[in-house]
Amino acid sequence: MTSDHPVAPGSSGTSPSPPPGETSSAAASLDAELLKRDFPALAQEVNGKPLAYLDNAATTQKPEEVLAALEHYYRFDNANVHRGIHELSRRATEAYEGSRKRLASWIGANGPEEVVWTRGTTEAINLVASSWGGANLQEGDEVVLTEMEHHSNLVPWQLVAQRTGARLRYVGLDDDGRLRLDQLPELLGPRTRIVSVSHVSNALGTINPVREIADLVRNHGALLLVDGAQGAAHHPVDVQGLGCDFYALSGHKLMGPTGIGALWARRELLEEMPPYQGGGEMIRIVEKDYSTWAALPHKFEAGTPNIAGAVALKAAVDYLDRVGPEAVLRHEQELVAYALEGLREIPGIRLFGPPEPTERSGVVSFSLSDAHPHDVATILDTEGVAIRAGHHCAQLVMKRYGVSATTRASFYLYNTREDVDRLLAGLATVEEIFGAS
Ligand code: PMP
Repeated sequence: MTSDHPVAPGSSGTSPSPPPGETSSAAASLDAELLKRDFPALAQEVNGKPLAYLDNAATTQKPEEVLAALEHYYRFDNANVHRGIHELSRRATEAYEGSRKRLASWIGANGPEEVVWTRGTTEAINLVASSWGGANLQEGDEVVLTEMEHHSNLVPWQLVAQRTGARLRYVGLDDDGRLRLDQLPELLGPRTRIVSVSHVSNALGTINPVREIADLVRNHGALLLVDGAQGAAHHPVDVQGLGCDFYALSGHKLMGPTGIGALWARRELLEEMPPYQGGGEMIRIVEKDYSTWAALPHKFEAGTPNIAGAVALKAAVDYLDRVGPEAVLRHEQELVAYALEGLREIPGIRLFGPPEPTERSGVVSFSLSDAHPHDVATILDTEGVAIRAGHHCAQLVMKRYGVSATTRASFYLYNTREDVDRLLAGLATVEEIFGAS
């Protein structure tokens, strides 16, 4: 991964990270305290306490640069893309397509035409399930999913299975929140057409061995989609190295705006896939009874897109790239290790996910025997600590572990040990309230 802006992230102007190109070295680390200053939302008080934002698996906060890119676009360059022969439209198009190029090279795509803008991971997976699945799945064909998946990587496949008569099969989970990959060879049958799996679990934090899965799937002649919603933000992504065929991601999980995300796919797959939605921008010629399609990637981008979102996503990618995804992952794993140490001291706690911090990104999911996750979240909120309680759109995970909900704290590059201390102190308050009853 390279950076085309050899400047430290942040308004502070000092470098919190090694120079570009050195981010993958073992020495790379980040200064979360310094990075935090780049995020205005983190400077506020909530319920009279400084905010400890630990809900990053749901969405991340935005640095000044992303906010500035959004504002700059609307203040100076706002125009529709591709259509206008005027200066603003030229600028808007250049910024919009420039961002696509940046994302494409950042994830190792073979070119910008392999990157389709979507609203996010959900839409990217729906695009594949609907377009590729609708055209290729037949009655009796099989789609292999896992019990770890977010609903976004389940329901679109259920919908296309209902339409086509395809069957869904599932890789299970072991007791520690890992995929039962020993089951995969058996699940890959003569009718398996595609496997769709998350890069990183949002409910457990587990990092899945995508390359290993890809090798099995490819040897079998099936395709692999990777749900990268929790991958791209915390993990270096190289779609060629991963060996997948589709990679879906959401901008808002990596400090970009909401409503923008992307689908990466191998060019030859996109060439063959039919359009997903019809409308302006995605056509070449429109006649009364038929139309022909625009070149890639526009064939899949009907209507006026989220131009500002795409433009500002580049600022987020630049920021993340300069900090270094390897450093981000290592920082999160340090916080996870620190959090797990504290959490394990709490009587009646049940921890979900792999015991080794190195097997997960910045997610800790747990339940307390005395208090419901929603009560835990409510008490923590009064302490200014933002976490999430619920099924995390992963009801199959909840079912596997026999719970209806968990409490989840999720860390990002701007979180510090102090934030974790605040979480642990909040949980001590929960214990005082509920443990005594
Ligand atoms: N997959 C996973 C693993 C996720 O964590 C999420 C978001 N929570 C999604 C898919 C869906 O992402 P989005 O809502 O941005 O489309």
